[in-house]
Amino acid sequence: MRKKIVAGNWKMNCDLSQTEYLLSQIKQQKLSSNTTVIVSPPFTNLYNTFESLKETAITVAAQNMHQAANGAYTGEISAAMLKSIGVNTVIIGHSERRAYFGETNELLSQKVTTALEANMTIIFCFGEELDDRRANDHFNLVKQQLQEGLFHVSKNSWDQIILAYEPVWAIGTGETASPEQAQEMHAFIRNTIAENYSQSIADGVSILYGGSVKPSNAAEIFEKPDVDGGLIGGASLNAEDFAAIVNAF
Ligand code: PEP
Repeated sequence: MRKKIVAGNWKMNCDLSQTEYLLSQIKQQKLSSNTTVIVSPPFTNLYNTFESLKETAITVAAQNMHQAANGAYTGEISAAMLKSIGVNTVIIGHSERRAYFGETNELLSQKVTTALEANMTIIFCFGEELDDRRANDHFNLVKQQLQEGLFHVSKNSWDQIILAYEPVWAIGTGETASPEQAQEMHAFIRNTIAENYSQSIADGVSILYGGSVKPSNAAEIFEKPDVDGGLIGGASLNAEDFAAIVNAF
């Protein structure tokens, strides 16, 4: 059985006191124990979030990391630094990193390698832009992102990988892919993994959908057979909304 996962990406939101407030609100929610819950605060609040949640079942993830082990990379954070504060999960390849920070498939493949070498779990994000979909190129584009960014990993690494399909046109826009569009792409992704690795690896990997998921649309998206949960941006900043999404399966 594949894991059901809901991950909240807080992006560059929440200072220290806002983080403490959000954490206290989240801890008051009743969260389904059938769903793996992940939250991903900014770097400055990773440690206090980890400490605050360590008696709960909620996992804490970083939003990014550098591909080098250490060195002269001002402003960057390494896998070892994350691990030293208890954080073993990292988001790699978010569309905002790709779009605003020039993260290419090649660079992301290096980050993937470094994270796996550090024995971290990766939430690997990818998805097409609106122009790609309009040009009916979305399947090719997604396949290329997977092939160039991820498919160098060994068969043994797949239990450390969570996929997040996030059509860029649906992120933070209020525009959601229809449940049918999500299912169609998730089935394509699973099939692509089966072709490149094996059916059992494809059947075992959790594929999350991301893009304007809200309490009002989560259930219809999550009920699709190849959708194993969501990566949630805006709605994860409100504890009640986030809990409603976690409990939407
Ligand atoms: C995201 O940031 O990954 C995301 C899906 O954002 P939103 O839910 O706000 O569209």
